[in-house]
Amino acid sequence: MARINDNYLKLQAGYLFPEIGRRVNEFTSANPSAQVIRLGIGDVTKPLVPAVLKAFHEGVDDLAKRESFHGYGPEQGYDWLCEVIIDKSYRPLGVDLKASEMFISDGSKCDSANILDIFDLGNKVAIGDPVYPVYNDTNVMVGRSGQVNDQGYYEGLVYMPCTEENGFMPQFPVEKVDIIYLCCPNNPTGTVATKDQLKNWVDYAIANDAVILFDAAYEAFITEPGIPHSIYEIEGAKQCAIEFRSFSKTAGFTGVRCGLTIVPEELLGTTAGGEKYSFNKLWNRRQSTKFNGVSYPVQKAAAAVYSDDGWAQVKQIIDYYMENARIIREGLTAAGIECFGGINAPYIWLKTPEGMSSWDFFDKLLGECHVVGTPGSGFGPSGEGYFRLSAFGDRKNVETAVNRIQEKWGK
Ligand SMILES: *Cc1c(COP(=O)(O)O)cnc(C)c1O
Repeated sequence: MARINDNYLKLQAGYLFPEIGRRVNEFTSANPSAQVIRLGIGDVTKPLVPAVLKAFHEGVDDLAKRESFHGYGPEQGYDWLCEVIIDKSYRPLGVDLKASEMFISDGSKCDSANILDIFDLGNKVAIGDPVYPVYNDTNVMVGRSGQVNDQGYYEGLVYMPCTEENGFMPQFPVEKVDIIYLCCPNNPTGTVATKDQLKNWVDYAIANDAVILFDAAYEAFITEPGIPHSIYEIEGAKQCAIEFRSFSKTAGFTGVRCGLTIVPEELLGTTAGGEKYSFNKLWNRRQSTKFNGVSYPVQKAAAAVYSDDGWAQVKQIIDYYMENARIIREGLTAAGIECFGGINAPYIWLKTPEGMSSWDFFDKLLGECHVVGTPGSGFGPSGEGYFRLSAFGDRKNVETAVNRIQEKWGK
């Protein structure tokens, strides 16, 4: 009989969102008239903008005619999409990239997981705590870890606690690591790195021959000037960093699926024999073999995000979500609840009042305010005592939720 990949058995059961669902169902069955407001899950709620929808439709119509039909496209994405992203999104940051350094994909969850294919299992990996669970679980799946311990940490992985004391910024690991995940702006804490902080990480990675896996899925939500949108705004980053971006949160593509990964040609690793080798070549080979590209209409729709109309429309929705974030952050702060994030990211990371545990606060918020959020402890041990609220909701719901919380906790 075929052996399974036993590494999967080390994973803790997909606990967080099923458990939230179970508790919400239990509550709504017992209180059928309660108007429950969901600010938990990190999914967008607004539909695609008109300019994107138009291009999407045109892409589908192209497929209906022999002259404009498209079959397999390049596995790396169409050049016209890469060029428009480079031109409209990277060049204004002062970042010069070649289309051959950009790989269009069906999303950055998949890319941030699949990227492990091009790294040796012997590499030491450092991840944040709390963290986007994909980084942790994919390393467990490939066999880079031992079992999980009592605290919730996997043996063999290095964790960088992100706490109030360090401003929720990961600190350099004590032991030597080869791969460092940075998610910036951060999910779940909503915090963002300054240019100086990122520069320190780039210098550290170069000095330690480490690679930074930089997840910039939320870069479009940065509102403060001077905050880097790409790690390549930092000198030297092309030698040490891979960057992931996504149309999911930026343009409402969570169900459409499109993202991109930058693997600079300057980025080198070493072979078993100690020679230098290009990660770009490996990723190109990996994608050509295991991936067959993003559908043509989806790439047309993605390109339309960067048209003048498209960007104006997309930006309006981003601003709407960020206004929600402001309402949540300021409303809760006024009620005496300590809040972080929500300025350059669509997440508010709050400190539970009265020292409650994350799950106790979840139950209280649901039971008394009929508001659903995400317990911080679900993102890692250092998230205990914290709670994540998402700004991706409807304005009226957000206002009602904040009012209810103020009635309960406001002085
Ligand atoms: C939502 C999200 C993504 C985007 O994933 P897609 O697969 O592109 O939808 C990536 N990273 C983080 C941290 C996210 O929260």
